[in-house]
Amino acid sequence: MKILIFNAGSSSLKFGVFDMAISDSRVFKGEFEHFKNGKCLLHYRVGGEEGEEKERGESLASVEDAIRRVPEILKEFGYDVFDAIGHRVAHGGEKFRDATLLDHNVLQYIESCTSLAPLHNPANLKAIMISSTFWPDIPQVAVFDTAFHHTIPDFAYTYAVPKEWRDKGLRRYGFHGTSHKYVGLRVAQVLNRSITELQIISCHLGNGASICAINHGFSIDTSMGMTPLEGLVMGTRSGDVDPGMFSYLARELGLSTEVVEKQLYSNSGLKALAGSHDFREIESKAAKGDLDAQLAINVCVYRLRKYIGAYTAAMGGVDALVFTGGIGENSAFMRRRICSKFDFLGLYLDEDKNQAVKLKSFDAPQIQSFDSRVKVIVTQTCEQLMIAQEVQYLLKQQKSQLKTKKWHIPVAVSARHVHLSQEAVEALFGKGHQLKKMRSLSQTEGWAAEETVEVIGPKGSFKTVRVLGPTRKQTQIEVSKTDTFTLGVEAPVRPSGKLENTPIIKLRGTVGAIESDGLIIAARHIHMSPEDAAKMGLKDGDYVDVKLGDGERGVSFSNTLIRAKQGYVTEMHIDTDEANAAGIAFRTEGELVMNERQGNADIVTKKNMRLHSLRT
Ligand code: AMP
Repeated sequence: MKILIFNAGSSSLKFGVFDMAISDSRVFKGEFEHFKNGKCLLHYRVGGEEGEEKERGESLASVEDAIRRVPEILKEFGYDVFDAIGHRVAHGGEKFRDATLLDHNVLQYIESCTSLAPLHNPANLKAIMISSTFWPDIPQVAVFDTAFHHTIPDFAYTYAVPKEWRDKGLRRYGFHGTSHKYVGLRVAQVLNRSITELQIISCHLGNGASICAINHGFSIDTSMGMTPLEGLVMGTRSGDVDPGMFSYLARELGLSTEVVEKQLYSNSGLKALAGSHDFREIESKAAKGDLDAQLAINVCVYRLRKYIGAYTAAMGGVDALVFTGGIGENSAFMRRRICSKFDFLGLYLDEDKNQAVKLKSFDAPQIQSFDSRVKVIVTQTCEQLMIAQEVQYLLKQQKSQLKTKKWHIPVAVSARHVHLSQEAVEALFGKGHQLKKMRSLSQTEGWAAEETVEVIGPKGSFKTVRVLGPTRKQTQIEVSKTDTFTLGVEAPVRPSGKLENTPIIKLRGTVGAIESDGLIIAARHIHMSPEDAAKMGLKDGDYVDVKLGDGERGVSFSNTLIRAKQGYVTEMHIDTDEANAAGIAFRTEGELVMNERQGNADIVTKKNMRLHSLRT
């Protein structure tokens, strides 16, 4: 399974192609960043973890332009066929606990969460909208940053605020869930233990930073809250502040909520304390004696240590501390500062091992000293791989559910009938004659006409065969196999409209007679609305088997063609021979069974997503 992953942020776009059939699965890695004056940088790597990292300039002004450029970039390197697309989505609110197939309703819900993640959800939505225009037939899956934290207990996620507010969704949700889950599992793998046996504190320290208590495999607390603003000191975000600050700022400085929010998201954190959000720069300034940089580091470290202590208490112990994210992976200095004075927990760092960390791909070195009870591990987070695994799991699960699920569809019997061209109508019923509608049919585009014709074969004839409107390009007769014996012709089983090399026989109307364009035994088929087809994992042109009846006269019709089109009502059509074989008089229900010939039943498209109704 080849999966394309998008991780769209407010100022960068990460994307990757994963081939889940091989162990070195990330076959392409790309990132657009540093958008300035209509230009940006593209970092990319082809051919797995050993591939060479490259960089080039691109003339793109924004993340949105970069998303639109992705298909060309991927094509350039030979990646243009995917089985699924996975999107990192920051906020999934209370609803999404797992990876979720995107459809109109899911998109609307994500959009409704935008106010909770104003920097992230709009970028994620853009990637979804644009990629679904490029790849309309490929299933798109959202993997939520909040999902892993759905196991946080109510006493940890509840804010002590009025009930009316809480009823509006004011609670802690947590973010970076995909990263915490990935590193938690990686730690378990490295320690050769099951994650369910371990108490892990995961420190994701990058531009955005959060810490998570993973108790026996479940997130039970994390530092980000209702929005990605709460918790640790971040690159440009403040993390925890006293909520009393807001009214003070409004009252004393006359600042609007918009201004305060913007400052807290974009001009606070390290940037506010040390004048830069680049931790490398801050470390080097601090080393040269810059007091602001030193304070920034102290504030960062102090808060982190407080959280580590708190989460150890929350879990009642800690077996492993794991560092990830740009700072966690690369700064030995920060790891040393954070891990100092944790002797009372039985946590001792081996400074040589700490200094020696030089991560390559999926490395996860342990840097605790030999007598440390708590393990300390450093590893790169690979959210994209985690997303790809979740997408694969979802689609496999869905496929097996589709295979075992019983879908029931209505079945109608089609008696012999004729479709006429306007030319044929006039030849049979008189110049200028128009077919008159007698009654509607279940497929709303067709109707039974008042007119009937005589169908005349070399051996026998049928006197009153119903004409179905509206008129078509060709004149087509549809009969059963038994009818062909009466008429004395040999006719093939064909889908409607395929008349080449079929018998041409005579039709007689009230004023004249003509030769038809063709006669077929209609291939059994199921009309389907695209929505129903998607639900059942089918698409136009697929084949399924259908079981009709049970007990003595139950039959199974193999190779039933799916005809999915907007406006169709889901219904199977069989002819009178087939109905007689199954002992059906008029209407019944059939049970759908997936067939080997069924093309892409595992691929649920979202053609039915009314994407245009959402903002792009
Ligand atoms: P991320 O958001 O995970 O990409 O992390 C970005 C942060 O990691 C920035 O603040 C970088 O300055 C910081 N970072 C990257 N490499 C190093 C390093 N070698 N030492 C200290 N900080 C680093």
